[in-house]
Amino acid sequence: MLRPIVRFGGPGLHAPAARVDRFDAELHALIDDMIETMYAAPGIGLAAPQIGVARRVCVIDLSVGKRGGEVITLVNPEFVERTGMQLEEEGCLSLPGFNATVPRPERVVVTGFDRDGTPRTVEGTGLLARALQHEMDHLDGVLFLDRLRGIKRDIIVRKIHKLQRSGKW
Ligand SMILES: [Zn+2]
Repeated sequence: MLRPIVRFGGPGLHAPAARVDRFDAELHALIDDMIETMYAAPGIGLAAPQIGVARRVCVIDLSVGKRGGEVITLVNPEFVERTGMQLEEEGCLSLPGFNATVPRPERVVVTGFDRDGTPRTVEGTGLLARALQHEMDHLDGVLFLDRLRGIKRDIIVRKIHKLQRSGKW
């Protein structure tokens, strides 16, 4: 089922999400909805708070579903390693129309669980490392906007407020 994506300023997007403790049918339905919503958007990643669910779950697929079997589902993910630095443009389904260059570590190692509760480790460099950090930030209520320096952030926030006032957000 497609779920509406919460935009900047919306409920739950700016608060930390709770750990998942049951790997049950409800979790599986949530993950299926997240994957479907991510592909439809289309996007390469989605975190549960972006569809209004305050749980530590995220999905990533750099191929946006074009190559089968590439979706990564992570429940309760944690960083084990973060090394290097990359500077690339980044966007977010909760901030449609906005992009900014965000500094991120170049390589990360993440541990977490798959949809059935089996532990898994994911190592990523470049775009995958960026996507992992971006989605895991969502689980802590952090948007890429919050990682920008003051003026850059202020300019985007002001533009969003303008869109909100005119009912276009
Ligand atoms: Zn995002």
